[in-house]
Amino acid sequence: MTGHTELAKRFGTPSYVYDLDRVAAAKRDLFAALPDEVDVFYAVKANPHPEIVREMGVAQERGGARRRGCRAEISSVGELTAVLDAGLDAAEVLYTGPGKTDEEIAEALARGVRLFSVESLGDLRHIGAVGVRLGVVADCLLRVNSVSASASTSIRMTGVPSQFGFDSETLPALRDELTGVAGTTVAGLHFFPLSNSADEPSLIAEFQHTIALAAQLQDELGVAFRFVDIGGGFAAPYAVIGERPVYGALRAALAESLDTHFPGWRDGGPRIACESGRYLVADSGTLLVGVVNLKESRGRRFVILDGGINSFGGMSGLGRILPVSVRPYETGAPHEQLASLVGPLCTPGDILGRDIELPALAPGDTVAIPNAGSYGVTASLLMFLGRPAPAEIVVRGPEVVSASRIQHTRDYELGRGL
Ligand SMILES: *Cc1c(COP(=O)(O)O)cnc(C)c1O
Repeated sequence: MTGHTELAKRFGTPSYVYDLDRVAAAKRDLFAALPDEVDVFYAVKANPHPEIVREMGVAQERGGARRRGCRAEISSVGELTAVLDAGLDAAEVLYTGPGKTDEEIAEALARGVRLFSVESLGDLRHIGAVGVRLGVVADCLLRVNSVSASASTSIRMTGVPSQFGFDSETLPALRDELTGVAGTTVAGLHFFPLSNSADEPSLIAEFQHTIALAAQLQDELGVAFRFVDIGGGFAAPYAVIGERPVYGALRAALAESLDTHFPGWRDGGPRIACESGRYLVADSGTLLVGVVNLKESRGRRFVILDGGINSFGGMSGLGRILPVSVRPYETGAPHEQLASLVGPLCTPGDILGRDIELPALAPGDTVAIPNAGSYGVTASLLMFLGRPAPAEIVVRGPEVVSASRIQHTRDYELGRGL
């Protein structure tokens, strides 16, 4: 009953379909690619849907034992609510972000979060002040902006001036200031130098570089780390046909590098963690959009859909056109035309793909954009031009688990009594 055509008929388009079996498979594959002792944080921003977050937290077979599933990495009170609603434990959460306000720090501490990534001395002092006020001590990981390995990647996060993290060169000089903040302890380091790594060798090279630098910073700071989050970079196809990469060499390479630099890591001295968003969810999701109209203009073809950058790819709204591809699987017809896939919004920027290969399409057809489970609904220009958010249908194999839609409402309570 979960053919895409069937779901599109039942729930309308645009609709996202997320398959929890595929989330579980991605989780299993990522855990298998890492040493058993390494924790995995799920970056909730990739897809905060409650059932997906819940699936991330489900315990997992690892190294012959049943171990906890993913922990959650979050960056707002909204994400914290999603995580707690999904039944994950606040004590296992990592709270990150360069602009944490006193209010959100207080809310997070009050709800039981104890592990924070800290981006600057000011950020650390804010957390400390709130911790002292609430009578708790927050474990803080110093986020490091490292001059990084030579990995080639599409999104580089560090090594240049950045709102993220302490510059690795000048971090040791801050030692006394960092270790003297009441309400906090420096528990270790947090790195995230790389997203969507080009290939396994560059991913491994980046981790090796990070682990060596973490050990060097431990020496220079003279603090025994309890926790080191070495980041991510696990790749996944995004809105194009393709498969998640298989990382066959990573597990051994990581273990070797950790044995060299942190001999106690297998016994938790320090505990090691990685993080991932897209690898864990991208291939669980398919976006179904309906064809509304076809037109030709000056020799070019346009397929006009009922969802565009308001439904998918806030990135394309920022001028980064996605190289979207579409599966011809509903009709089995081969790709046979070059056309642009455009959305319904009144802006020439509403383009999901320019001059891409498409099957023959007619109004009323549904197209399916694969590998759309990450950075979808919540990374889109949801409210622009006032259409409803896409439906989100969660399935587990053939069974529909839930169907829902995010609602936008204006709250006049704010101005009550004016
Ligand atoms: C966004 C983000 C992630 C997830 O990135 P992916 O490329 O989706 O794996 C992980 N960690 C941090 C700190 C992030 O900001």
